[in-house]
Amino acid sequence: MPSRRFAHILPALAIAVCLLGLAGLPGCARQDTPEAAPDLIVVNGKVYPGGGAAFAEAVAVRGNTVLRVGTSQDIRSLAGPATTVIDARGGAVVPGLNDSHLHVISGGLSLQQAALGEARSLEELQKVIREFAAAHPDRPWVLGRGWTYMAVPGGLPTRQQLDAAVSDRPAVMVAYDGHTCWANSRALKMAGITAATRDPDGGAIVKDPRTGEPTGALKESAQGLVRKLVPAWTREDRLNAVRAAIAMAHRFGVTSVQNAGGSAEDMALFDELRKSGELKVRLYSAMSAEPGFSEADADAIDGVRKTYGDDPVLKTGAVKMYIDGVIESHTAVMLAPYANKPVKGEPIWKPEEFRRVIAMLDRRGWQVWVHAIGDGGVRMTLDAFEQAAAANPAPNADRRHRIEHIETIDAADIPRFAKLNVIASQQPFHGTPDSLGVWIPNIGAERASRAWVYGSVLRAGGRVAFGSDWAVVSMDPRIGIHTAINRTSLDGTPAGGWIPGQRIPLTAAIDGYTSGAAYASFDERRKGRLAPGMLADIAILSTDIFGAPPERFLDTKVETTIFDGRVVYSRK
Ligand SMILES: [Zn+2]
Repeated sequence: MPSRRFAHILPALAIAVCLLGLAGLPGCARQDTPEAAPDLIVVNGKVYPGGGAAFAEAVAVRGNTVLRVGTSQDIRSLAGPATTVIDARGGAVVPGLNDSHLHVISGGLSLQQAALGEARSLEELQKVIREFAAAHPDRPWVLGRGWTYMAVPGGLPTRQQLDAAVSDRPAVMVAYDGHTCWANSRALKMAGITAATRDPDGGAIVKDPRTGEPTGALKESAQGLVRKLVPAWTREDRLNAVRAAIAMAHRFGVTSVQNAGGSAEDMALFDELRKSGELKVRLYSAMSAEPGFSEADADAIDGVRKTYGDDPVLKTGAVKMYIDGVIESHTAVMLAPYANKPVKGEPIWKPEEFRRVIAMLDRRGWQVWVHAIGDGGVRMTLDAFEQAAAANPAPNADRRHRIEHIETIDAADIPRFAKLNVIASQQPFHGTPDSLGVWIPNIGAERASRAWVYGSVLRAGGRVAFGSDWAVVSMDPRIGIHTAINRTSLDGTPAGGWIPGQRIPLTAAIDGYTSGAAYASFDERRKGRLAPGMLADIAILSTDIFGAPPERFLDTKVETTIFDGRVVYSRK
């Protein structure tokens, strides 16, 4: 046991000094105390330190930072009597995973609603909703989320189909992408929506083309007509939602999350959990901005940013905007009309205001995240970022604006990510081949051939950051990584991958969830890689994913999650 200590030069010198009879000098009495030794070591792993660094076997942690990365023998030699030793048993060890785009509060609240994401048909949807309603007889509204357009005949469900599952109470089910909701007849009646109701700005009440009656599907802002009637969640509901999100993150090896839109109130909620020691993920939360956003609104969020500063656990610094909707409902902005409908999608912002607000935020040093899914939305956003950079020279030279989603893109825009240092923030699992039954025909094969082009962006020298968009889909980063490296659905089809040229190496996919994600939140100097001095956020997996074929990647499980130097999850 003592022999281990000689491998570390400073304790070895201290022991030599003590042996020479100089005990009593400061340091001698401390040679065996825990602060000299790591608090925790992980050995026998396949350690990928991140950012393309060479593999190692072990990691030593002292306090909340990484002390050293090396061989198991080297790291074991540092251990003292109080050091916790975790044997990775040959499994992969990676920096704590960082979900670059999710929705912490709505995600957590979704756990209190009917989960519809797995349903593959109308009958399955109705069954889940019926069972959820029966299990929650006290709830005045029956809420659900996650249904997919391809699960229902014609892509949009009807109120009668929902009435068949719930008729005694109002019910509203939000689609997996959040852009359409499905209300039953009772909910429509409470909202006063009839054949005579006009579409609100930026939304559509879907109506039966023969009768003119509302069908029950409400798109974009029209969802608010019904959703505003749903009793608000309480503060305690919201705190519990964040707690549930954190517990889920730990099960998935996730130690950092980036919240895609929120408010000063949300920050205060997160801060309450930080103060009670419950915020055991690092949270970078974007502030939401909508059309009409003014200099006064910007002054207000400047104040929020100042309040939290550059805290390693909770901070803001980003503003989230939407320029378009989604391809499935023909609301994503396209450069040319959809393949099966003579529309191109309307931008949510007037172009002039969009450019002006982005330039204003850029000038104030904010990072801007724009939800852009169609090739037209992506181009408008790149153009706005380029113009902001031209209008605002230094001091904001370290600009790292982001485009969220980028489901399809014009080929000419791919190199612009590297050129403008714009981050492609993508959610690989959204491009899982078996969920594109509406997506592909809507834009046609040619544009679909440039779906989720993270491979091309990386090859062109651009940066990517990966995330889930939870609760749109599961938070589990394994399914995002699987999709990025294989481009198949979870069952492995199609063999060889869909648009296989966009497959990326496993290390690049891990980087997208670690070092790339850390860069995307201006945190690359303190997290996202395992190196001396970096924050000790670590995920230990059950298998050597780097030595296994990519098709076997999903066999791996998260064994242990370490946040800030402490184990926060262990599978056993
Ligand atoms: Zn999102």
